[in-house]
Amino acid sequence: MIYLDHAATTPVPKEVADAMYAVLTEQFGNPSSQYQLGLDMKKKVEDWRKTVAGSLGCEAKQLFFTSCGTEGDNWAIQAACWQNRHLGKHIVTTAVEHNAVLEACKWMEKQGYEVTYIAPDGNGGITAEQVLSAVRPDTALVSVMMVNNELGNVYPIADIARGLTVKNPKTLLHTDAVQGFLKVPFAAKSLGADFITLSAHKIGGPKGIGALYIGPRVRNPRPLLAGGGQEGGLRSGTEATAQIAGFAKAVELRTDHLADKLARMADIKAYAVETLSAIPDLTVIGSGAAPHILSVALTGWPSQNIVNDLSGQGICVSAGSACHQGRPSHVVAALDLPKRTAGSVIRLSFGPETGKADIDACAAALRHHHDTRMPML
Ligand code: PLP
Repeated sequence: MIYLDHAATTPVPKEVADAMYAVLTEQFGNPSSQYQLGLDMKKKVEDWRKTVAGSLGCEAKQLFFTSCGTEGDNWAIQAACWQNRHLGKHIVTTAVEHNAVLEACKWMEKQGYEVTYIAPDGNGGITAEQVLSAVRPDTALVSVMMVNNELGNVYPIADIARGLTVKNPKTLLHTDAVQGFLKVPFAAKSLGADFITLSAHKIGGPKGIGALYIGPRVRNPRPLLAGGGQEGGLRSGTEATAQIAGFAKAVELRTDHLADKLARMADIKAYAVETLSAIPDLTVIGSGAAPHILSVALTGWPSQNIVNDLSGQGICVSAGSACHQGRPSHVVAALDLPKRTAGSVIRLSFGPETGKADIDACAAALRHHHDTRMPML
């Protein structure tokens, strides 16, 4: 199998699975239990928290484990709006966020909030000025993703944070860093965002575990789940200990020689751009600087047919996040591309283990698709 869909999810290395297995079998204690098995697990969970927090550049007490990136996004939006409920009912976000943010914003609209959706340029770019110009005295929250999951565009979170201190210092800033964490360099402490969402399964960790960074400007954050008082009383529920162990192990593995891994991924992306661009009717979509995401369009050939054809040959790529019943995703739709191009976009995404041979095989399959199938758009 040739796996070119690391932005969807990543393979779990054996070391991660082993760490999880040990927790599931031998170290299965509940961190709230008062005997040694539980106390040991409590200490371990705090060690794992330190590992993840260290890689994010924040203090362990600022990092809260969640069940996934979607949960972190939802929690951040609700917590920010709750803190600023007396400031106003306005949110600024972008039209190209993950649905975890967009749907949470739509829910806030039902609660009487007004949401401004910043549109990207034709390459998926969004500037800090665009975002800041939409901020008003009643803006409770700005939520802008760090890296777009379909295009790989990197958005200027630090610039937005700096600008907010002038435009409206009370507005809270959330960034969905699910695709940015350990892919583009940043540290929570210097970034200036009040909330940062992470998800483990994009970096070699298991599915079903994520984290939310909550910064010092968030006072008495609104608990997501009330109950037994876990996660500092903000997200009750017995800790997903095996998942957390896997998350920490994945972080440990990924951060080892991280700069080399990112450079290799960037090289693979450059190689993919060069190799795929030689295919007739193929164009690169977006101007993504992230090293692991590349979208291309084989103009005229429907994305889902390409995905199916490649899948039959054991090659996994995605039709964006994705082509919903033949319609382009909301991200591709926001680019205002010609209809034939928009319907033909596929996403390739890479991991540290992706090699040039994977790209060559994908390029050959795409060329074959182009040469043997009729364009239908
Ligand atoms: N945000 C972005 C940018 C993503 O790419 C994803 C997953 O694809 C999510 C949020 C949701 O993360 P999870 O699958 O952990 O809920």
